[in-house]
This record gives sequence, C-alpha cells and structure tokens, in this order.
Amino acid sequence: MHLETDVLVIGAGGAGMYAALEADRAGASVILADRSLIGRGGATVMAQMTVAVALGEQTPDHWEYHLADTLTAGRGLCDERLAAILCEDGPRRIREMDDWKVGWAREDGHIKQAQAPGHDRPRCVYVDFLSTGPAVSRTLRTQLNGVSGIRRIGDLAIVDIAVRDGEACGAVALHVPTGRIVTIAARSVVIATGGLTRLYRRNSASSNMGGDGYALALRAGAELIDMEFVQFFPIGHLAPRLVGMDPIMWDPFRYKLGGKLLNSEMQEFEEGYASADTRSDGNYVLTRDLATYAISKEVEAGRGSPAGGAYLSFQHIPEADIRRAFGPVVDRLAANGIDLARQPVEVAPIAHYHMGGIRVDDALQTKIAGLYACGEAVGGANGANRLSGNAITEALVFGARAGRHAALRASNGAVAWSAEAARPAVDLVNSATRRDAPNTAAMIVELQALMAEKAGPFRTDENLRIAADALARLTRDIGETPLSSADGFDPVLVDWLDLRNMLLVAQSVVLPALARTESRGAHQREDYPGLDDSWAVNQLVSLSDGRLELSRSAPVTGRGAA
Ligand SMILES: Cc1cc2nc3c(=O)[nH]c(=O)nc-3n(C[C@H](O)[C@H](O)[C@H](O)COP(=O)(O)OP(=O)(O)OC[C@H]3O[C@@H](n4cnc5c(N)ncnc54)[C@H](O)[C@@H]3O)c2cc1C
Repeated sequence: MHLETDVLVIGAGGAGMYAALEADRAGASVILADRSLIGRGGATVMAQMTVAVALGEQTPDHWEYHLADTLTAGRGLCDERLAAILCEDGPRRIREMDDWKVGWAREDGHIKQAQAPGHDRPRCVYVDFLSTGPAVSRTLRTQLNGVSGIRRIGDLAIVDIAVRDGEACGAVALHVPTGRIVTIAARSVVIATGGLTRLYRRNSASSNMGGDGYALALRAGAELIDMEFVQFFPIGHLAPRLVGMDPIMWDPFRYKLGGKLLNSEMQEFEEGYASADTRSDGNYVLTRDLATYAISKEVEAGRGSPAGGAYLSFQHIPEADIRRAFGPVVDRLAANGIDLARQPVEVAPIAHYHMGGIRVDDALQTKIAGLYACGEAVGGANGANRLSGNAITEALVFGARAGRHAALRASNGAVAWSAEAARPAVDLVNSATRRDAPNTAAMIVELQALMAEKAGPFRTDENLRIAADALARLTRDIGETPLSSADGFDPVLVDWLDLRNMLLVAQSVVLPALARTESRGAHQREDYPGLDDSWAVNQLVSLSDGRLELSRSAPVTGRGAA
C-alpha cells in the first residue's frame, strides 16, 4: 500500500498530536501514524502530575525565571536555545489547552499553580486528581476529531525513514495487525516517538517506548545528543499489582504526608543516607537522587523488600489524613486491593524519562533536511537532568513548533518520493523468514536486565564495558534477517524489529556513558564521583557505515553552562 501526504507525523502522544494540529493549521495535509492507538499509546496519556509553565496566575512569574530553573537543573549541559523556546512558548500552549477545555485545576478563578521540586516558585499546573496526562491526551484527541485534513492511522509501526539525496521523503511502515508493508511519501517527516525507558527492566512507561525514534533518526543520518542521561525515578511502584494508575504517583504523597521508606527489617534507612542539608526539622525525606542511591544500596546489602525494592509506608498517618491527601485516589487504590492505612507498598527506582535524544536546531529540524523531531524524542533542552513538569510542556511546545516548520517546508516544495530510498526497509521486512532461533522475546528481557544492572542509575567502567560487550553479542545474535512466525499479524517479526532498534539505542546510551568519566545529573559514575568541568560538553552519537560514532560538541557556553 502506498500513501501520500505533505507532513508525516510519527507517534501520536502529546507532541505528535500537537504537531499534526499545527501542521494542519498551517495548511498542510497530514498523516498522523502511531504503532498503538492514536493518543493512547505513549507516556503522555500515563502522566498524572504536573506541567511546568510560567503563567504567573497566582504568583508573579516570567518565562526567564522558568528558564533559569531549567538551566540549573540541567547541570550545565542545556541547549539554551531549546530550553528558552520551551519556557517562552509554554504559556501560549497551556492557555490554548485551557481554551480547548483541558480542565486545569483552578483556585479563586485562577489556574492553580503548585510548587514542585527545583522550581523557585509555584509554577506547575495540573488536572485533578492525578488526571493531567489523560486530560491532555483527551483534549488533543478531541481537537483532532474536529479536523478533516489529518488522516489518523493507528497500529502502524514506522520501520525506517526514506532519505533521498540527504533529504527525508517519507517512510516505510508495517501495518501490525495485517503484516502489510505501507510506504508513505511525505514532504516533511516529524519524529514524535517519545523516549526509551523500555530499555530498562523496571520502567514507568508503556511497552512501545523502546526508543524507535532514536533508531529511525540514526539510520536516516541524523545525530543524537546527551544519550547517556536517563532519568530514574526513585520510588516507582513495584508491588502489589497496580492497574490503571501512574507508577510514579507516590512521590508527592511521600513529600506531603511524610511517607516512610523501610527496609526488609522494617527499619527506616533514609537517615543513614541523608546529607547534612536534607536534615531540616529532623525530617529525612531524601531528594530523588539520594533516595535512588539509598534504596539501591539497601537492596545490594540484602535488606530489600520481597520484590527487590523498599517498603513505602503511610501506616503511621491517621486514616482521615490519608483520605484527605489522596482524595478519590484512595478508592482507586482500594480497587487494586491496597489499603495504605494497613499495609505498605513496595517501591524501587525505575527508568522514567530520557533527557537525551535527537539533535535538532531551533526549527526542530535534524541534520537531515525535512526530518524534524519533537517531544521526548528530542535531546538537549533539559541537559543532564530534567526539571519536574518540563516534559509535557516540552511535548506541547516542541510538537507545535515542529508541526509548523514541517508544514512550511512542505509548502515550499521538497524532495520528491523515491521508491529506491524506501527499498532497503521494504526488502528488510520482506526478507523475514520462519526460524525457531534466536528467541527475540527472551533477548529483549536479557537486554532490559543488562541495561538495569550495568547501565542503570549507578555506573562503573567495568559494568559499562560488560554491557557494551553483551550488546555487541546480542546484535550479532539477532542477525540481519528478520524472524517471522506467521502471515498477517506477526508478533515475532515485531519483536525482531523492536529488538533491532532497542539494541542500537542501548548502544547509543552505553557508548557516551562509558566515555563520560564524571558524575553529572542523571549520569552517576561510582568510579568517577563529582562533576568535572572539562566535561561541560555534549556528546553526539551518529551512525556511519553501520558503526556508531561518538564525538563531542564545543564546550557549552551561555547560561546553559554550569
Ligand atoms: C508514568 C509517567 C508519568 C509522567 N508524569 C509526568 C508529569 O507529571 N509531568 C511531566 O511533565 N512529564 C511527565 N512524564 C513524562 C511525559 O509524560 C513525557 O515525556 C511526554 O508525555 C512525552 O510525550 P511525547 O509525545 O514526546 O511521547 P509519548 O507520549 O510517549 O508518545 C510517543 C508515541 O509514539 C508512538 N511510537 C513509538 N514508536 C513508534 C513507531 N516506530 N511508529 C509509530 N509510532 C511509534 C508510541 O506508540 C506513542 O504513542 C511522565 C511519564 C510517565 C511515563
């Protein structure tokens, strides 16, 4: 099957949906494709907390203050141009979402703005109760429903971008339910495929977050930046089973109510890891990085909870206070069989967000003309560490901007479709053969365990080398011919294609992580503790003749620098 459009948007999370709407507003025809359901597949719909934006509705604010906090959190590595776009355009997008009736929580007639860690003032908007992501997704889906120029196609996994004479001219896709190959001619292509947290055994996102967009960009000839910076969330939900709720929901309650972290001996352990400045009021609520460290070390010492994390307990808090703080969330927990007044839950650090990603200019265009990126797929804006609430703002702001620029390029004429450029990907999928080995599903599990153990929140030279060697072995093992199990819907072929991407992306994380011999933001090297000023540079990853190459940017300057 062959389709044609002005703008192809890959991925229908917050960034992709906004990109499609904005490209349509600019007069382009649009195909919005997602390997899952439109507006229901990625991280956006799962987010439940806050969106950072300098609205100044309740406390005077300016986007420059938001930018200052973003740059501080980024530990000297932010691309200041991108960070400034995120902060300056944020209010426009958030107010537009308000006009579209997203339902931001209000107080005294004003959009309510909550305080969140790392912000110098209350700046974070949200939709009650823990409904921010679903409300954002629903609002954008509703807007899409009212537009006729956007063709929405779910269950369509993009396999590769077609590039002709150095310019993007479309893509090759697999229609997952039927196994059919679909080629799409497009004057501009926007990658909005979100992050890579599926590379890790424990993660907060859905199973389609294997970093496809990074692999697509690399193979198309674009560069990746800051790939070593994967953000781990210290108290992700581990057990008991929690369905339909955000696995990172515990943090605000832990801060608000003083939830206690306990080890297998039911002993509080935060105090032992608290640095002097966290001991205010005799209270040992650790910051995220210290909490991640403390839980990991307790588990290592054999004092982990049964599922391999720590207990988080609210049992010392009166039941009425729990109900007041958690509101209707208490009932959703009860539906999952969890009664916080009577039992602790188990928590552990989980991969949550990726600061790194595709390198773009301030039109969100990659090195390849006509190839754009937006949302979490983009690297650079958040440097070495992301400020809480910045990711949804990033998705909406960068989505709109990429959509606009992609439409502009399409209207100015662009390179024509080339079946020849699409042929390698078409041939790859067509070459899939029925074989029993290797077991790609088991290899995905192995890769996730490897990344968690050897390239997780705390890294060493030895572990990263083990990871690099094992990834090279797995890459050899999957071979170059896809596996197939059936005509039509072919889960084995999908696993093979996923694994191909996951291996490339995992290597793109390990390579710069090994090179960066310092600890900065989310990249913590146990063998190189502390920040090293000579490392105030971004690392770039590219693909040349099938080999990953690593290079460094010039030292970061301007206010993005530490
Ligand atoms: C549980 C959770 C809670 C969070 N809470 C917050 C919060 O409170 N505040 C905040 O700011 N941020 C939060 N984040 C981060 C934030 O939600 C994400 O960074 C942001 O939503 C990413 O949006 P996106 O549109 O770039 O990607 P996504 O929303 O992840 O969408 C990407 C889409 O691309 C599709 N896709 C992937 N590969 C392909 C392919 N090959 N072909 C076709 N389609 C493809 C996927 O199916 C998916 O639908 C949270 C994240 C998670 C996981």
